[in-house]
Amino acid sequence: EEHNNVALIVGVTGIVGDSLAGILSVPDTPGGPWKVYGVARRPRPTWSADHPVHYIQCDVSDPKDTRTKLSPLTDITHIFWVTWANRPTEAECCDLNGAMFNNVLTVVVPNAPNLTHICIQTGHKHYIGPFEAFGKIKPHETPFVEDVPRLDVPNFYYTLEDIALDASKKSRGQLTWSVHRPAVIFGFSPYSMMNMLGSLCVYAAICKHENVPLKFPGTKAAWNCYFVAADADLIAEQQIWSCVDPNGKNEAFNCSNGDVFKWKALWKVLAHEFGVEYEEFDESDEYVSLVERMKDKGPVWDEIVKINNLTETKLEEFTFWFADLMFLGECMLDSMNKSKEHGFFGFRNSEKSLVSVIDKMRSHKIVF
Ligand code: NDP
Repeated sequence: EEHNNVALIVGVTGIVGDSLAGILSVPDTPGGPWKVYGVARRPRPTWSADHPVHYIQCDVSDPKDTRTKLSPLTDITHIFWVTWANRPTEAECCDLNGAMFNNVLTVVVPNAPNLTHICIQTGHKHYIGPFEAFGKIKPHETPFVEDVPRLDVPNFYYTLEDIALDASKKSRGQLTWSVHRPAVIFGFSPYSMMNMLGSLCVYAAICKHENVPLKFPGTKAAWNCYFVAADADLIAEQQIWSCVDPNGKNEAFNCSNGDVFKWKALWKVLAHEFGVEYEEFDESDEYVSLVERMKDKGPVWDEIVKINNLTETKLEEFTFWFADLMFLGECMLDSMNKSKEHGFFGFRNSEKSLVSVIDKMRSHKIVF
């Protein structure tokens, strides 16, 4: 089988990994036809099985497993780093995420002579600092622009950048890199460690099942402010663009849909999609987080899965804490100017992006 490029997606079942797997598998995708290797620790889930990807079960935090599974892949040309690991402190995150990335590069760089580019996905925390620093340090001015000095706190995003830069330097520029910094991601994967829409869809499905209105589980600021999001397919498109366009190399790029929206408008769409009663945010209601609202709903979810014949999932797999965090205050906006100036013109309509994610969740029977 003929192919022009060979991708290694590290985190292939993640929120962007799944989009990359889908898009890279389409023969007329830029740089294609691509051959695609995809790595994750868990066995391949049913919803990922349609992608013609060489699926490799491997724990990249384990150097031995990484060597065994990845050293035979001598034809890799591009690495997509769309994974991460969480730890109690950011210092530990730097160590662990750095070690994972180094484990992969240590094996792939010497074994894959045609390796030319590495995409690393980080995010807005580049500008606000890691979760542990929220509220403690002054974030960068909004709208975020890419070329600002680093904040003076540990951040595993910086660690990843330094490793990529160092690998490029050692290759004397043969190996290029790009950094992609999305806003909150609108995507599908039920295996993601941070999936805002997944959590909201499950919440809406539970409201529907219990025949109660869809209350907004956030603050007034989050309800009313302008918000930005990044469609997972759009992020994949930007990463693929950076692989094929010289202007996309050795630079960091923000990634968001290119529009702004308000949750008060998207809430209506979400309610409509699930056939549940829309309710305006009411300041006199007591704030109740999604985590709190969902804490006893495990059996309800099991029941919903059963009666609607859904793909087996557990309530704990959905990341309500992350939706709570996104709904705590105003969204910080970013600028897409640099990305456009360099030649990436992709965009999404955020409302349609929301609907397309719901459709995808339905088609894989994650929700009904
Ligand atoms: P996800 O949590 O969606 O996916 C992670 C993927 O990596 C999964 O496929 C997972 O599968 C795999 N994985 C995890 N650990 C390992 C391991 N040790 N070895 C091999 N595979 C592993 O990732 P995201 O796309 O959310 O995260 C990528 C980056 O994007 C992070 O830096 C994140 O902070 C950033 N980001 C995310 C946003 C979001 O809304 N999700 C918003 C902005 C930035 P398995 O568990 O089976 O191994």
